[in-house]
Amino acid sequence: MFGFYPNERNRTAFYQSVADEFPFVKKEVIGTSLVGREIASFTVGNLDKRVIIAAAFHGSEWLTANIALHFLWDLCCCIKNSEPVGGLHLGSRLKKRGISIVPCVNPDGVEINLSGADSAGRYSALINSLTHEPYRWQANARGVDLNHNFPANWEVIHRREQDMGITKPSSTRYGGERPASEPETVALMNYINENNFTRAYALHSQGREIYYSFGKNTPKPSNTMSRVLSIASGYKTAKPPLIADGGGFKDWFIEKFHQPGFTFEIGVGENPLPLTDESREYAQLLKALCLTTII
Ligand SMILES: [Zn+2]
Repeated sequence: MFGFYPNERNRTAFYQSVADEFPFVKKEVIGTSLVGREIASFTVGNLDKRVIIAAAFHGSEWLTANIALHFLWDLCCCIKNSEPVGGLHLGSRLKKRGISIVPCVNPDGVEINLSGADSAGRYSALINSLTHEPYRWQANARGVDLNHNFPANWEVIHRREQDMGITKPSSTRYGGERPASEPETVALMNYINENNFTRAYALHSQGREIYYSFGKNTPKPSNTMSRVLSIASGYKTAKPPLIADGGGFKDWFIEKFHQPGFTFEIGVGENPLPLTDESREYAQLLKALCLTTII
């Protein structure tokens, strides 16, 4: 079941397997990317009160989609067969707090990495003009970094980008002409605005770190929660580098809802992390992922 590249074709086949095996999973299409690819969410457990785990905001971090898909599958098995996952019986917890998983926030960026610039349709010439390394592309199809595009201190991070000479579409770190300018950003924001999410977790790579703060907005429980998640995963708690402090999904979630939001930076090495790292990184993070429905 695992060990596949999470390109569009393989994700679609996986989604079909989930639908066939686990009819209790609620699939929602929360939006479409610039090139028209589906952005999907899968929920198990309580629909009225949930946490969200979202992955693959950055194209070359596609291994985070594998982690999210693997966790979805294991959660489904846990419910269907009353099996433990990560050593925990989560069935009764999930009835209190459901988990929604968005495995691929940036499907065009992932496809550019795994299938080349041609997969970006009318944006392929732009991508070829900006990079000779499509397998390291982080942004969406028109060169906007989605995790710099959320409306949370966007102006501050926009000025920092300009100070670094990033003033136009780029393979990484360009936050767009205005906050929430991109359909992928808006899809996730609308989905969260329309449902009751009490926690948000974003998967990125790499560094085996947990980010939990967003300046003075950081909710009170976040520090303690991050330490629990740190013990469960072996990850270090950390503050993001200045250029990544603001404009991000977890930043927006914290600022708008005053609820805890976290980033897990999976793995070590250079992006893209190899597919062979998947099982090891999943095993290391699994207990922390399970705790999202508990803490
Ligand atoms: Zn990232």
